[in-house]
Amino acid sequence: MRAKDFSMGLLYNKHVIRFLGFCIVIGFVVGLGVSLTVFSLEGKSTALRLSSGQVHSGQGERLTPRPEADRPLDGTPKPSPTPIPDPYLGESGQTTQVRIPILFYHYIGNNPIPEDTARDTLSVTPDRFKEHMEYLSQEGYTTLTFDMVNDILKGSQSLPAKPVVLTFDDGYIDFYYNAYPILEQFSFKATVFVPTGLVGGGAYLTWEMIGQMAGTGIEFQSHTVNHAYLPSLSRTRMVEEVTESKKTLEERLGHPVNWFAYPYGAISGSSAKAVKEAGYAGAVGTIPGVNQSAGQMFNLRRQRIGANMDLETFKTKL
Ligand SMILES: [Zn+2]
Repeated sequence: MRAKDFSMGLLYNKHVIRFLGFCIVIGFVVGLGVSLTVFSLEGKSTALRLSSGQVHSGQGERLTPRPEADRPLDGTPKPSPTPIPDPYLGESGQTTQVRIPILFYHYIGNNPIPEDTARDTLSVTPDRFKEHMEYLSQEGYTTLTFDMVNDILKGSQSLPAKPVVLTFDDGYIDFYYNAYPILEQFSFKATVFVPTGLVGGGAYLTWEMIGQMAGTGIEFQSHTVNHAYLPSLSRTRMVEEVTESKKTLEERLGHPVNWFAYPYGAISGSSAKAVKEAGYAGAVGTIPGVNQSAGQMFNLRRQRIGANMDLETFKTKL
């Protein structure tokens, strides 16, 4: 029995030793696996943090995260650099402000698709539009073209007592049927910002309509080719959008096209730079305000007129 007990004990111990050895190996493998997983998740979350670290500045500029090398190694915050004035977005030193309300409309018509509530916010009925124009006429407002705004901001033309600029984005076909006759009635000047690639398609003006209205106080200026969201485009595509639309309009109209509207009001330092380099004299965004300055020629302020705005609200936009 003793010998058997002894050999059983030895056998038992052997099993225990093997089992313990097995546990150590498994423990090591599992431990290593967990470490590797944590390491890889860390890597992923760093990558996520970096991609979500792309932020939009107030002007819609997409900023990339600062490279590691730019960060102080000892953790003390670097003194923030003196802001560099952006000659395209203003603050260029030419800060004299002139009050010139630039209004912007989209659709002048009854919304034919009631389910399209987004369109409601962009629509003003012809009756309401006529009320707006009647008010401007009765109050003695002078409608301006953008070349006139340019001359006023640069000091070569005097400011009329009650200036206003009427603009219409996207070149919808209802401009021809509903807005144009009313503008003609009051002999008002107006500017339509046209995405040239959309002209002639269903809801949009045709080149024939544009040709008919051009030169009668209605100006057609650029709104890119495809109504592009410029800050998301590569530099090459961005340049194409702003130069091709200018070229097409100039060929069709036979005169220089110097003004631009950023689709979606999406303006960034790089898109404003592309617009300036394409040869435009200036551009409008959708930042509200009535005070303009020569230093903000590529980010002129505009007042949105939509959602069938009543006359009392309209008056507050001037
Ligand atoms: Zn637009």
